[in-house]
Amino acid sequence: MRIEQVLKPVLTLAWRLGLRAGRCAVCAAILPEGGPLCPTCAQDLPLRTGGLCPACGAMSGRENDLPSLCPECRSAPPPWNELYFHGQYTGIMRRLIIGYKFHNRFERNRLLGALAVAAFRARPGSVPDAVVPVPLHDRRLIWRGFNQSLEIARGLARHQDRPLLVHGLRRTRNTPPQTRFGLKERQANIKGAFAADPALVRGKRLLLVDDVYTTGSTLRECARTLKRAGCIEVDVLVLARTVLD
Ligand SMILES: [Zn+2]
Ligand SMILES: [Zn+2]
Repeated sequence: MRIEQVLKPVLTLAWRLGLRAGRCAVCAAILPEGGPLCPTCAQDLPLRTGGLCPACGAMSGRENDLPSLCPECRSAPPPWNELYFHGQYTGIMRRLIIGYKFHNRFERNRLLGALAVAAFRARPGSVPDAVVPVPLHDRRLIWRGFNQSLEIARGLARHQDRPLLVHGLRRTRNTPPQTRFGLKERQANIKGAFAADPALVRGKRLLLVDDVYTTGSTLRECARTLKRAGCIEVDVLVLARTVLD
C-alpha cells in the first residue's frame, strides 16, 4: 500500500475534526468547543472597559477606575462624543491587525468584527442611525484590495441592524501614510483630505469606524467633515488604541 493511501483517510479525518471544532484565529490551535480564540490567545486580547478617557481613550494605569474625561478632552473636547475601542494596540492585537492589513490575512475578518462588536457593547451608549467607515484613497484600495475600516464597519452595521454608509465619506486626495509623521505634521497631512455626502449624513447620529487610533488626527478630520455636512452627532469606534500618551 502506498503511503498516500494510508495517510489520506487520516488527514481527511483530522481535517474534518479540525473543521468541526474550529481553530484559534491567532495560533491555529484546534478548539474542541469552537472558536474563535483559544483561552491563551483570548487572555492576551483583554477588553478594556475602565481606567480610560471615554472621549479619546487615553488610559491610566488603573483598569478598575470608572471612565473619566482626561484634562485634554476637558479643555478641548474632540469633535465626537465617545471613543469605543477593544484594547491596546500591542501584543496579539497589533499582530492581528498588521497581519490583516498587510499580509492578506483576510480570514481574520470575522474575528476583528467580533472584537469591534464586543467593544461597542461593553459600554453604555446610544445605537447610531448609521455606520460610516474611514475611507481609503482609491489608489491604496487597489493596492491592498480591501478597506479594513469598511470591513470592520460592515460587521458593526450588521450587528446593530443599521445602514452602512460606504460613501458617507470619501477621500478627495491621496495622502502619504500618517505613520511617517508626528502630531502636527499628521494634522497638516490630512487636512481637507475628505468630503462627506450631505444627502447621506445630514441630521444623523453616526458611528465612525477605523482600525487603530494613534493620534486621532484622521478621525478628527473625518468627524469635522461629517459635522460640516450636517451630521448631528458622531461616536467613534476603533479596534485598538496606541498607548503613547
Ligand atoms: Zn490561540
Ligand atoms: Zn481624553
